[in-house]
Parts: sequence; structure tokens; C-alpha cells
Amino acid sequence: MSDVRGLPDSRHSLRGLTAEGDEAWLIRDISRKLYRCPGCHGEIEIGADHVVVHYVRRAGGSDHHHWHRDCAEELLVPELRRVSRVSAAESSRGRLESRARRPAGRRARR
Ligand SMILES: [Zn+2]
Repeated sequence: MSDVRGLPDSRHSLRGLTAEGDEAWLIRDISRKLYRCPGCHGEIEIGADHVVVHYVRRAGGSDHHHWHRDCAEELLVPELRRVSRVSAAESSRGRLESRARRPAGRRARR
């Protein structure tokens, strides 16, 4: 998985599948408020370069969480299957939310 190290960045996001078959999209972001990282339960400071993990659920629906970069890389990415690099444009909030309106079986395979 060396090709995904150091990602996501401003041009590339990552996409993988969770054990439950949900899509997990990892998107680089700069925090505009204080977040708490689910990986270490520590704070992500305002202005920090971090990762938004946006889940698109197999049954439809979506939710997202803010992670430290290191925590996402060390704790989350190794749990995902079929992790690949995608262009950041593909992972815009609007696109993911419209994707989440359809259950997985009715989604275009892209
Ligand atoms: Zn963390």
C-alpha cells in the first residue's frame, strides 16, 4: 500500500471499503473549528491539516468524522479493503451526499 502513503492531499483522496461493506472516503481538510479525533480521542486544533473520513453506507446514508492524519493512516487505513487513490474532485461533499441517496446496489460503479 505504499502508493497511498502521505495521502490524502489537496489533489487526491482515498477510497476503501469497511468490513461492513460501507465506502470510506478519506479527504484532506483544514479544520475551521475544534474536532475530537475518534482514533486517539485527542483534539484536532483549528487550522490543522487533517483527514475527513466520510462514510457512504451500503444501505444508503452517510456520515463523517474528523481524524488526525497519523491516526487515520495508522489506525483506519489498515482496516480498509481495496484502498485506492481517487481525484479530490470525485470526493466533494456534494458528490458523496448524492451517492449516499442510493443504496449500494443501485449506485453506478463509477
Ligand atoms: Zn488522533
